Amino acid sequence: MTTRIDDNLLLDGAIVTCRHCGTILGDDHDPIRDAVVRESEPSEAGPGVRAAATNFATRRILLRRAFCPSCLVQLKFEIVPADEASFRSSRVGAGL
Ligand SMILES: [Zn+2]
Repeated sequence: MTTRIDDNLLLDGAIVTCRHCGTILGDDHDPIRDAVVRESEPSEAGPGVRAAATNFATRRILLRRAFCPSCLVQLKFEIVPADEASFRSSRVGAGL
């Protein structure tokens, strides 16, 4: 049985695939494990991010995005301290 997780991800059994191209991206414990991650300056998020991060934080802040490695659809987007792991995680499956 295939279940739609969101606009970009499908769950088929324990395997998560891209809804757009069918590429396997991970599993129910780590849905976008195989995504391509790009880190850049927060201002690349768009015109809504104008102020320098140094005005608000002493640590370096970055824009971290995850993409499907085949069709490059964006799967995740976060602006976070550079020295921290991704704070957004997801897990799918029974019991959640
Ligand atoms: Zn894809």
